[in-house]
Amino acid sequence: MSQTHWTVLGAGSLGCLWAGYLNQAGFPVTLLHREEVAAPESLSLTRFQEDQATAFKAELTTASACPEKSISRLVVATKAHDAVTAVAGVQHALTDDACIVLLQNGMGSQQAVAEKYPEYAIVAACITDGAYRTEPGHVIHAGQGISRVGALNAQGQKVWRQVVEDLEQTDLIIEACENINQALWNKLAINIAINGLTALNQCLNGELMQPERYQRVSRLCRETEAVMAALKLQLPEQGLLPLATDVIKGTAKNRSSMLQDTLRGKITEIDYINGYLVQQAEHLNIEVPESLSIYREVKLRFNQPSS
Ligand code: NAP
Repeated sequence: MSQTHWTVLGAGSLGCLWAGYLNQAGFPVTLLHREEVAAPESLSLTRFQEDQATAFKAELTTASACPEKSISRLVVATKAHDAVTAVAGVQHALTDDACIVLLQNGMGSQQAVAEKYPEYAIVAACITDGAYRTEPGHVIHAGQGISRVGALNAQGQKVWRQVVEDLEQTDLIIEACENINQALWNKLAINIAINGLTALNQCLNGELMQPERYQRVSRLCRETEAVMAALKLQLPEQGLLPLATDVIKGTAKNRSSMLQDTLRGKITEIDYINGYLVQQAEHLNIEVPESLSIYREVKLRFNQPSS
């Protein structure tokens, strides 16, 4: 078995999930928690549809404590707004041929990291799993999804298949993705239709089927289609609305991540979801009034920092 040493930056839900699955597949793992927060006292993973938590091992430390040039494979498991700063904090520890694997939702943060660090191999994962922590270091794998993994830059093209091979040794469902940009947009399109609206209405995904809300979903889908078409991205044959509707119905009882963030008084990822669409639309001279309004409403109502 390959003995790649994986370093996971961010000991949150997804960081613990990936650290847990990697370690339980036999990989040595280091988990970097925040400087100002104590390390979790113990670590465990409750696998999908299992009741029992199983312990996993990881060296727990912080970015500043990592020795120079000691990390060759870094997984960034922070929220999108923390990703660039988090990578900067650990840059001294990256080897010259390091590969950075980005797990963030939405779009914009991955491109910002890729732009700032073209010398490193940048790989992105587009993830549909659901995970949450019950206490620090203890994660529940609540929803089985897929992690689509692909290269984001030229250096990444050289190593992304090795990354996929390692990840395929875990019990996560991994898909090698030749066109990660398209995969990220596909997920972004659904997030644009659902996340901001559930936060503003403080409602479950399924409650977006109420007529007034659903009209907004429909307008959001049309706007995203216009931007994706202008960017020459592939669109589902039946259009985005039927796809978004399936997700809304299939996850009717779920609280979207943005709703959860607002309930906890946290910074949302709106800049990287509707905000990203607004930014792209501006470059293309396309009007996206519904996304713009949701972006502004979320910013204002939940006291979000300006971007
Ligand atoms: P999370 O639970 O908030 O975890 C992020 C962790 O990173 C937090 O513990 C945070 O600390 C830590 N962090 C931030 N900056 C750091 C730094 N500089 N050094 C060390 N640690 C740092 O978030 P998550 O749910 O794992 O989500 C991570 C990303 O994955 C998001 O983009 C999310 O949308 C995406 N995602 C999540 C899931 C899921 O089911 N959880 C599924 C798919 C995609 P603080 O809490 O102190 O800020």
